[in-house]
Amino acid sequence: MIKKNWKELMVGAFGSLLLYLIVVVEVDPLAMIMVLTSIFIASVLYNVFHGRGMIGAAGVAKMPELLSFDEIGGQEIAKRELMEALDFLVHGDDLSRYGIRPLKGILLAGPPGTGKTLLAKAAAHYTDSVFLYAAGSDFVEMYVGVGARRVRGLFKEARQLTIKQKKKNAIIFIDEIDVLGGKRDSTTHAKEADQTLNQLLTEMDGLFSQDLPRIFMIAATNRKDMLDDALLRPGRFDRQIQIDLPDKQGRLQILGIHALNKPLSVDVILDLIADQTFGFSGAQLESLMNEAAVYAFREQKELIEQCHLTQAIDKVLLGETSDRRTNEEERRRIAIHELGHAIAAETFRPGSVNQVSLSPRGMTMGYVRQNPKENTNVYSKSDLEEQIKISLAGAAAEEIFYGERSTGSRQDFDHALQIVETMIRSGLTRLGIVKMEMLTHEAAMTECQNILNDLMEQTRSCLDERRNCVESLLPILLQEEILTSSALQHAISESKKGTCTNGVA
Ligand code: ATP
Repeated sequence: MIKKNWKELMVGAFGSLLLYLIVVVEVDPLAMIMVLTSIFIASVLYNVFHGRGMIGAAGVAKMPELLSFDEIGGQEIAKRELMEALDFLVHGDDLSRYGIRPLKGILLAGPPGTGKTLLAKAAAHYTDSVFLYAAGSDFVEMYVGVGARRVRGLFKEARQLTIKQKKKNAIIFIDEIDVLGGKRDSTTHAKEADQTLNQLLTEMDGLFSQDLPRIFMIAATNRKDMLDDALLRPGRFDRQIQIDLPDKQGRLQILGIHALNKPLSVDVILDLIADQTFGFSGAQLESLMNEAAVYAFREQKELIEQCHLTQAIDKVLLGETSDRRTNEEERRRIAIHELGHAIAAETFRPGSVNQVSLSPRGMTMGYVRQNPKENTNVYSKSDLEEQIKISLAGAAAEEIFYGERSTGSRQDFDHALQIVETMIRSGLTRLGIVKMEMLTHEAAMTECQNILNDLMEQTRSCLDERRNCVESLLPILLQEEILTSSALQHAISESKKGTCTNGVA
């Protein structure tokens, strides 16, 4: 709070000091006015010189260490596209012989932590350029003209530094460009923000490939849809590269990169960790390796072992284990709820459960870690129904063993409802091909209820058939707090031999 409002606090403190000097110390008001006038003139002069780059630079650019493309795991397509786009900085003269219009800017779009900043740094390394980093928020100011002046200063600084370092190229990287280059309209965008964005567009229009030093812009965003069209038109950020979450191969490479400086046991199989971290970003994988090292350090182990990495997955996904207290009855109910999820998951998708845990972490009191289906972009109706049944299974198990549900199923129901909505929007329900907006509230409600009631019934009867399975696993889970996939699979196959004969419900 203090950091954010330091300007206001300073003004307040200064005002109080003046009052104190005039009222208590009885300083001559005329002398005070002269002092204030001098301070005002000094600050105006400072701002004028600062804006023209005569004192230091714009004050927003930072120059972090560079790295090569080899130090970035996965993202092969993005790296190739980026290198192609950068070739004009490396082979500029050849391109101009062909009359190719060089690019002025590239936009890297993708979820947080996927390596956009790393790619920009590697681009500077690849092209032997000076690298300047700024964030969109660095340009956001209350006072009209300040942001625009910073943009001017940034380009000026890039030229000065490049000449000083005797290089030919500079790369300016602006992270969170959406903060600075959001869509302009008459209502939302303030005059200051307009001026800042206009200045950026003007600076980009003024970049010519023949001019040395050459300046190339790279911008990054998680919200491409927010950007003003003017930024994306040809001649500005006209090459856009999508940076996606890494696939299994990419995850393995990223884990390998972040394992390089860590003492890993020879028994560690990173491939298994890459399997279990579907949906993780590069930043989460880096954090996972770090947390694993912390676990090994806490246990005073010489080497990081597989168990440390497995624990670290949960830590990154769900947070640190908490010491929230639960009474015996509550623990039993949570265990039954989680077993419901796990048994349903293993029944509908054999081999999908990785672990069931009863230790509280973050906001959860227990959880089932599933091995996600890799590279699935399209889901069939039965895939979605399976997902719903697995979500409902916690509540179904509670109904079977306690005769009623509890508040512990709220998030499961939210998840189930989201999937039902996807089904309706994808034309996978009895309503046929419809838009959600075409439906009345009642029609949507009725279809939703029909689907969920039907699937709940199926889930309940599946778990009812495997009641003995829940009963045999419950004491183990309560005692050990962790249930492995093999223990679960064994119990399910035993229950098939006994009461349940028809396999999948
Ligand atoms: P944001 O959108 O939040 O700014 P970003 O996409 O720019 O995120 P980076 O800052 O480049 O992400 O990455 C954050 C950290 O995650 C890096 O410092 C690195 O440790 C790790 N990381 C992310 N992606 C990769 C990758 N592909 N290879 C290796 N490390 C990665």
